[in-house]
Amino acid sequence: MDDLKFGRRDKRGDYHPGEAAGTAPLFVFPPQPRALLKWLPHYFFPYNAIFFLSALIWWNWIIPPVEVMRTLAWGWVLWLLAVNVVAVFLWYSAFELQLYIRRTQGNRFKYNGKFPADTPSDVFWFKSQNLDNFLRGLLSGVPIWTGLEVLVLWAFANGYVPWLSFAAHPVYLALLCLVVPVIHEFHFFCIHRLIHTPFLYKWVHSVHHNSINPSPWSSLSMHPVEHLLYFSTILYHLIIPSNPLIALYQLHYAGFGAVPGHVGFDKVELGEDRAVDTHAYIHYLHHKYFEVNYGDGLIPIDRWVGTFHDGSKAAEEQMNARYRKKKERLNAGKIPPVQ
Ligand SMILES: [Zn+2]
Ligand SMILES: [Zn+2]
Repeated sequence: MDDLKFGRRDKRGDYHPGEAAGTAPLFVFPPQPRALLKWLPHYFFPYNAIFFLSALIWWNWIIPPVEVMRTLAWGWVLWLLAVNVVAVFLWYSAFELQLYIRRTQGNRFKYNGKFPADTPSDVFWFKSQNLDNFLRGLLSGVPIWTGLEVLVLWAFANGYVPWLSFAAHPVYLALLCLVVPVIHEFHFFCIHRLIHTPFLYKWVHSVHHNSINPSPWSSLSMHPVEHLLYFSTILYHLIIPSNPLIALYQLHYAGFGAVPGHVGFDKVELGEDRAVDTHAYIHYLHHKYFEVNYGDGLIPIDRWVGTFHDGSKAAEEQMNARYRKKKERLNAGKIPPVQ
């Protein structure tokens, strides 16, 4: 497929989509009903539908009976851990294998023209971004994900938090399902902005940002503290009246949903003349420029606070002006006041 029909490639070989990155027309004033209707199918397909379906599969076939979950025991905890490890391996590898190992579409639609495997770096374990990202995700990401999953299921099973049934509260729970991505976006923005503060950035979040040119395995390449903050999005369901199935959906949204933002390609080709949008551009720009796009654009908080970058020249100038101002402020602080 000819990616240059949809964007341009610069001298370095990096691909720039022709269309600027946009935020969802959900929390805008005045409301944009036509844009909202056009956007709505993207809210459900493909990702949200896949993650809800995976939560349903877990609930029906993976999660043990309630009586078992009342007691914390290694048997069911390790079972959940093993299933999560296999699922993460399969889902993440599906993207990594096709796009980064077999490189089936070369660097067509690839934001950064280079592949991480071609540029070994000392910042990564074994000098390999792939190996480093893979191990961090599986050694601390999935165990922390599973730990929080176990905690929440155990709390529901013991009746420590309200367990609303779909039969008794169908409308409320359906609405709560719709709100799951919004909860995720709010939580992600808050913790993400928090770990960009200097101390936490240095000790925690810099691990994730080592991958300036992210690939799918980079999604869960985080410091364990960030894993804990990131996956604690499931804890909202201990506070708001909910159902364990929706709590699982929230967790899968975070765990499996991290991949699309780190695919590194604007479109994934499905044949000679078909491709699907990845919606990865906003978060790719965050990995490239660090201090923009703390959120993924479902709630346009970055627009509200002036940190949104849509990939355009104008946005770049705006970002540089912000950096200049910040530098001036810092320099001004260093100069002792005149007596
Ligand atoms: Zn990231
Ligand atoms: Zn960040």
